[in-house]
Amino acid sequence: PAAAEGAPPVIHQKEGLRLLRRVGVVDPSSLDDYRATGGYAALRNALRMGQAAVIREVTDAGLLGRGGAAFPTGRKWAATAAQPAGPHYLVCNADESEPGTFKDRVLLEGDPFALVEAMTIAAFAIGARQGYVYLRGEYPRALRLLRNALDVGRERGFLGVDVMGHAGFSFDIEIRRGAGAYICGEETAIFNSIEGFRGEPRTKPPFPVEQGLFGKPTVVNNVETLVNVPLILTEGAAAYRSIGTEASAGPKLFCLSGNVERPGVYEVPFGATLRELLALAGGVPEGRSLRAVLLGGAAGGFVRPDELDLPLTFEDARAAKTTLGSGVVLVLDDLADLGGFLLRIAEFFRDESCGQCVPCRIGTVRQEEAIRRVLAAGSEEQPLLREVGGVMRDSSICGLGQTAWNAIESAIDRLGALQ
Ligand code: NAD
Ligand code: SF4
Repeated sequence: PAAAEGAPPVIHQKEGLRLLRRVGVVDPSSLDDYRATGGYAALRNALRMGQAAVIREVTDAGLLGRGGAAFPTGRKWAATAAQPAGPHYLVCNADESEPGTFKDRVLLEGDPFALVEAMTIAAFAIGARQGYVYLRGEYPRALRLLRNALDVGRERGFLGVDVMGHAGFSFDIEIRRGAGAYICGEETAIFNSIEGFRGEPRTKPPFPVEQGLFGKPTVVNNVETLVNVPLILTEGAAAYRSIGTEASAGPKLFCLSGNVERPGVYEVPFGATLRELLALAGGVPEGRSLRAVLLGGAAGGFVRPDELDLPLTFEDARAAKTTLGSGVVLVLDDLADLGGFLLRIAEFFRDESCGQCVPCRIGTVRQEEAIRRVLAAGSEEQPLLREVGGVMRDSSICGLGQTAWNAIESAIDRLGALQ
């Protein structure tokens, strides 16, 4: 049976929105609404500018990947476009599955034409004729609205042969749905899944820009990353760069969850502080006090109440021994069960390990067992946890195993957990 769609996204913020400006305001099934609010002006500009100039503009804007790893988007596009042997492919990673991450869902459900326009610009820049959206299977509303956006786009000449009347530029998009496996959000596991194989990560290098989908040069970009592209091509790189900081440019979405008054997706310029972001969401519920914030998700790290003036940038997060990751801001108050929370993280990684490599397949099990022993009997497990965590980090094939110990290590070192 089809999964229920749940409630549509609600944006609590009313001002200063760029990425979220259409969400909850326009009808996400209407191309006319999209165009009336500036839609397809960016693609028109891109087609006029030409491929190289589009890549230059995105590079000059300093756009960094918003899936979690912050790799420069312009560098990816340039490296793929430079590969002489095609076909070249574009894949949008919409398999948003990091616990506490729901920003791409809000964009997909609230502004699906923006993603289609952004993908068309990216495809034009890298010379791709075929794009894929790898969509999380549990996002039925996003699927319905995205399918509609593709159908309407084709009917009206925004996809297909000679896009927007531009002779020689043909592009179309296919949706592929995930089936509930977290690991299928890893970019090379996406390739295997699309190609009909088990969703297991491949060893990198070679990177997708050289050998990606079907062994061909491929750009993989996250939904939020792509939705920044039309902003850059309408405002210009310099205006875009004036938002945020030198090293982290532009606006950023954060997913506020846990013990906050108004959970949801919030948009701030890079450089806003964690304190300011928490205030937008109303802070912790009345009568409670803040215990810690998990920043960046299970692969990230904890921030203590005395560190809330942390500027939200990739560089400041790194210096604070965490990451912005995919924008997770998970708030724990004084009543939260920290030990239980850490056990849940360990269970999650044990469950979701694809089992392909030994350090992660065995390490995630040993990690969970050790945490259970600490919680049940107060036994001393830190040396074992550190050893297992270090082996997973150093020798796992992909990011899942490499980061499966991050949040747990951070809780031990920064919050004194699991003593
Ligand atoms: P990564 O650092 O290996 O790669 C990031 C991107 O840069 C990839 O597209 C990769 O192909 C590219 N890249 C890296 N080096 C390159 C090079 N030399 N040349 C060309 N391209 C290069 O990170 P990853 O394993 O792809 O992603 C890890 C991140 O994913 C973590 O930060 C985590 O927060 C995030 N994540 C997000 C979700 C989510 O739901 N959004 C889920 C799980 C993990
Ligand atoms: Fe699979 Fe884990 Fe190895 Fe990644 S690290 S390939 S998820 S077993």
